[in-house]
Amino acid sequence: MAELDQDLRSVVGGRTAERLQKAFGMRTVSDALRHYPRRYIPRGQLTDLASLRIDEEVTVMARVKTVNSRWTNPRGGAARGRRTNVVEVVVTDGTGELTVTFFNQAFRQGQLRPGRRGLFAGKVGSFRGRRQLSHPGFVLLPEADEPSDPEAAATFSNTVIPVYPSTSGMPSWRIQAAMALVLPYAETVADPIPAEVRSRHALLELSTALHDVHRPADMAAAEAARDRLRWQEAFLLQGVLLRRRSAARALTAVPRLEKPEGLVAALDAALPFELTPGQSLVAEEIRADLAQGHPMMRLLQGEVGSGKTVVALRAMLSVVDAGAQAALLAPTEVLAGQHYRGILDLLGPMAAAGTLQGADGATGVVLLTGSQTAAERRQALTDIASGQAGIVVGTHALISEGVDFHDLGLVVIDEQHRFGVEQRALLLDKARTDTRPHLLVMTATPIPRTVAMTVFGDLDVSTLRELPAGRSPIATHVVPAAERPDYLSRTWLRVREEVEAGHQVYVVCPRIEEGEQSEARPPGYPPAAVVELVGYLASGPLAGVRLGLLHGRLRPAAKDAVMAAFADPTSSAEPVEVLVATTVIEVGVDVPNATTMVIVDAERFGVSALHQLRGRVGRGSAPGLCLLVTTAAQGSPARERLQAVAATTDGFELSLVDLRVRREGDVLGANQSGRSNSLRLLSVLEDEEIIARARDEFAAVLETDPTLRRQPALMAALTATEAADDVDYLEKT
Ligand code: ADP
Ligand code: MG
Repeated sequence: MAELDQDLRSVVGGRTAERLQKAFGMRTVSDALRHYPRRYIPRGQLTDLASLRIDEEVTVMARVKTVNSRWTNPRGGAARGRRTNVVEVVVTDGTGELTVTFFNQAFRQGQLRPGRRGLFAGKVGSFRGRRQLSHPGFVLLPEADEPSDPEAAATFSNTVIPVYPSTSGMPSWRIQAAMALVLPYAETVADPIPAEVRSRHALLELSTALHDVHRPADMAAAEAARDRLRWQEAFLLQGVLLRRRSAARALTAVPRLEKPEGLVAALDAALPFELTPGQSLVAEEIRADLAQGHPMMRLLQGEVGSGKTVVALRAMLSVVDAGAQAALLAPTEVLAGQHYRGILDLLGPMAAAGTLQGADGATGVVLLTGSQTAAERRQALTDIASGQAGIVVGTHALISEGVDFHDLGLVVIDEQHRFGVEQRALLLDKARTDTRPHLLVMTATPIPRTVAMTVFGDLDVSTLRELPAGRSPIATHVVPAAERPDYLSRTWLRVREEVEAGHQVYVVCPRIEEGEQSEARPPGYPPAAVVELVGYLASGPLAGVRLGLLHGRLRPAAKDAVMAAFADPTSSAEPVEVLVATTVIEVGVDVPNATTMVIVDAERFGVSALHQLRGRVGRGSAPGLCLLVTTAAQGSPARERLQAVAATTDGFELSLVDLRVRREGDVLGANQSGRSNSLRLLSVLEDEEIIARARDEFAAVLETDPTLRRQPALMAALTATEAADDVDYLEKT
């Protein structure tokens, strides 16, 4: 590997190395070798010019069609300023054309003679409706009678010309030339993929693949090289995850078994419903995990409203039954508060340890959030440290320093996608040092199988697909407010009707307050900020309805009060029938009597956010209704997205829509260069089969050689992949 760590400066020279570093962050031979061509041009083949988009950085192979040179008329009359010479070259692919211009470089006319072919690189601009390249870099295919230009000769020596991601300072052919100097270092590189695995999957050797990806003899060779390198990415990534998984399983944890007549039994007795078959199954899986002497590491993935909370609560209570503590981490104060109140309600006297109401075997439940008073916080911390609090519900505040548990047995993370791995790790570290707590993470953002395999590759996965019986479906409609103002008035009428029928309604919009420059809205269209929206509704379409306002900048006590008044208006002094809110209610909030959700400026939200928001209604027995109010024009991508959300309530299906909309790089986390560091060729959406096979193969390698003692090259490559850091990055979706 040492060869590959070689400083690029000593291989390609200082100036080139400096440019490569500046443009692409490359420092070593290995960095350069992993700068793969974006595509290839078979020699002689011209690029389809019709496919070029404005503002794109391109490298095209084209033929010169015409060349003209002219002088501009100087502005402000002949006396002022100098005249500019413009060389205007039209290049063609046989059908399409592109204009190439040079200013004050009259000599270009002599170089770019009609009929000559070459590579042109630059940013596609537009001039008078025609696409053009202004001052592109270029290199011409040598002609037989021409004195040889070394750059041109080197560029066109291949039968297939690689096209690299490039910049104006570093066009593709310069990178190609630098690569010629780098490639010899790849000849002796050790292969991290074991020979048997290679032969089973017909994979090239690494040295061959590196050579062929940069200097393929033909297109087939380039493809084979890319396949092999793609496979390696999958193999190493799964390797990192599988090793992490087995390392975690090698840790010890205290088995935590529920007591027969304990809190779990009390909860089951208190529940107003039966667990669904799916919930029971997952509860069994968790029970089995908790009985083990190594930590549970489980992801509970479930459709919005599938009832994950109660499953988690049962797990928490069994750990408390076993004499330890459980922590529940929620992403927002609203959600933490809701969980806290929900647990107290369900457990009643069983949650009142240490008070007069406390039953035998009761436990304490405490809430810890960043906005509590110093006294509240002190009390909570004391109860957590003494073990008085069996159940601790909190926000990020739980992770902070100074929070010490007596004996933390289980960590539950709700809405895991809102947290990063570091936070998960910090909380796990709060256990006694000789053991690990069990871990249950929950997510309501369903993800396709391979993404799960990649993003949560170190976790076991349980899935809740079904919703509890008796739920009515949620109907979703797009309200095209610009085209159909009458639909908008009907929307507010519907809201009134729901309220009159004794239900509650959410109205969600993207912002808290209008900024300085509030943009023009169509007539009659509601404001996009909650503060203005509440006023608009109160004095207009919803006059007389009891409105509440909720957003992230309210004081926590005010948030709690409005949530409570909305959750249970009949027993509130100031009931709230319609809650006008920002996305603070996006995740987790559970008010079964709320039946309707209106989302204003729905096009501003992503697919998964809309699905989450919609999941706030249809939680009780009355049918749910979700109205997506938008000005997005028919046929626009934004409108199509809303239509897709309206068409299905299947979160798994929508997650695919979502992934296609967002660039894959956003899913996996990407560094500044726009691409994840260790995943250059692999696509988690397209390469499902490769990922699954690579995972199986790596698992088999680990079986026979758990420490990878016999695989030094593999070990080294894994270390490098881990150091590239994106494996952690992967988890923040
Ligand atoms: P999510 O999985 O989205 O977190 P919740 O845990 O908030 O869903 O549950 C949604 C609603 O369904 C809650 O009101 C909860 O009490 C209720 N619920 C959970 N399990 C069942 C069940 N087996 N039968 C009926 N209702 C249930
Ligand atoms: Mg939830």
